[in-house]
Amino acid sequence: MKYWGYLVAKLVAAYAVLRLAWLLIEFLLPEPEIFLYTRLPRFPNDLPWTVAILVFWLFALGLLVLILWDQRIRCRTCLRRLRMPVESGSWSRATLFAPPRKSLICPYGHGTLDEPVAHVSAQPPAEWHRHRDIWEELEALDKDSR
Ligand SMILES: [Zn+2]
Repeated sequence: MKYWGYLVAKLVAAYAVLRLAWLLIEFLLPEPEIFLYTRLPRFPNDLPWTVAILVFWLFALGLLVLILWDQRIRCRTCLRRLRMPVESGSWSRATLFAPPRKSLICPYGHGTLDEPVAHVSAQPPAEWHRHRDIWEELEALDKDSR
């Protein structure tokens, strides 16, 4: 729940930034005067307005991509950025047996994100594996060694 709430908070903040940018564009580029009793739409007929819409669109799309990319590599429990990428598998047997994958782990041990490195249509999507309590696992390993 915390993970999705953080995503929604980032999207709301991005909406506020984009709304401010839109108001700034409207303030800097006011509606043109009526010419020969005709009001033409601004988008394809006014070059500064059209360029502003293009830049606004690219900025909005870049902001959305940045938000989604940042969200994908965050821990589902504590929201910290995942670290320590470890690659496994091999490129020579990439089709069936051991496709190359990359694992990212939470620095506090909450879980691991396994994602494919080779992007083909038959690849399974990235998977989040939640870890149990790491101290219990360490104690179990210690009891087994005795
Ligand atoms: Zn974590």
